[in-house]
Amino acid sequence: MITLKVKDLSKNFGSTEVLKKINLEIEEGNFLVLLGPSGCGKSTLLNIIAGLETIDEGTVFIDDYNVSEVEPKDRNIAMVFQSYALYPSMNVKENMVFGLKQSKTSKEKIEEQLKKVSNFLHVDELLNRKPSQLSGGQRQRVAIGRALVREPRIFLFDEPLSNLDAKLRVEMRREIKKLHQKLKTTVVYVTHDQTEAMSLGTNIAIMNHGVIQQYDTPENIYNRPNNTFVADFIGSPAMNLISGQLVKDGNNTSFIPEDSNQSNNISIKNYNFIKPLDGSGTDVLFGIRPEHIHYKKANDTDYEINLRADLNEYIGHEQIATFNYYNQEVLGKFPSTVKIETNKEMKLFFDLNQISIFDKKTNNRI
Ligand code: ADP
Ligand code: MG
Repeated sequence: MITLKVKDLSKNFGSTEVLKKINLEIEEGNFLVLLGPSGCGKSTLLNIIAGLETIDEGTVFIDDYNVSEVEPKDRNIAMVFQSYALYPSMNVKENMVFGLKQSKTSKEKIEEQLKKVSNFLHVDELLNRKPSQLSGGQRQRVAIGRALVREPRIFLFDEPLSNLDAKLRVEMRREIKKLHQKLKTTVVYVTHDQTEAMSLGTNIAIMNHGVIQQYDTPENIYNRPNNTFVADFIGSPAMNLISGQLVKDGNNTSFIPEDSNQSNNISIKNYNFIKPLDGSGTDVLFGIRPEHIHYKKANDTDYEINLRADLNEYIGHEQIATFNYYNQEVLGKFPSTVKIETNKEMKLFFDLNQISIFDKKTNNRI
């Protein structure tokens, strides 16, 4: 069952087009992440779903009802903000039940919900404290608690972890994941953090300049990016995008890197093109992730080459080496136990089962 549907949604602020014909559907119980760089329109989209922002064109449906004109309080949703937006003069208990009191819930029901949720989130001990007497993580828990007590149809989160330090962020991320596993409520979650998106989302919508670039599972986003924006945005370090040409020769197709001689081509006959290539000589970007360049052979189909390492970055659990590939930088990621000497050639193996190829003109996957 589709819980939330956004259809042909557009939004302008003055002359700025912030959202351009957004289409999204989310199945009941799924965890949708809106991911994209700052300013791409994520919060605007979330606010429109919440009813906090008006629509210029298009429709929002919750459970098949057109809610575009429905007041936020009547949409059966709950939102958790980055700033937590707790009332400073109220204690934790008052903050948590505020929404329920507003909606004239019975006293018994309020007490029951408060008990259940504060126990669940381990905030029982904090009920009499003011927000100023809480740590960042505790405040975040209370903000989530305030949303939980209302048992909404959909949870909306806007960058709820970005004010926390790195360690706490990872802890709270796990808590949100556990919470979703238990409650199985539909979630729409905004973040600019790719790790948060990949680890939490059942589905990810990657946005740029108000357009959804790909709406897919985390696995497909990682393995089969639709275009170079997605390829570059996901992964750290980013996917290598090597400039060159595709050349067809009978049944075989090869990639020839720019500035190389014709003998050094990579046969890609097992690559799964979206549609058959027309003609030869297409300018492309050959995409391979740093983790798919190996120091020892893993598959029969691996492409073997000697490249000079110009730089090596040791980061503890792994190391990232930069190689010179016909004057283009290509990064490889290796376990930190592998010996890499800079200014020396090293034998490398490209895993051709993991590559992506993009048309250089359109930047789309081909
Ligand atoms: P994100 O959450 O992805 O960082 P936003 O949705 O907050 O992006 O903003 C998208 C764009 O819309 C930005 O360029 C921002 O400056 C602009 N914007 C957001 N809200 C308003 C507003 N109320 N008035 C004018 N411009 C706005
Ligand atoms: Mg935002």
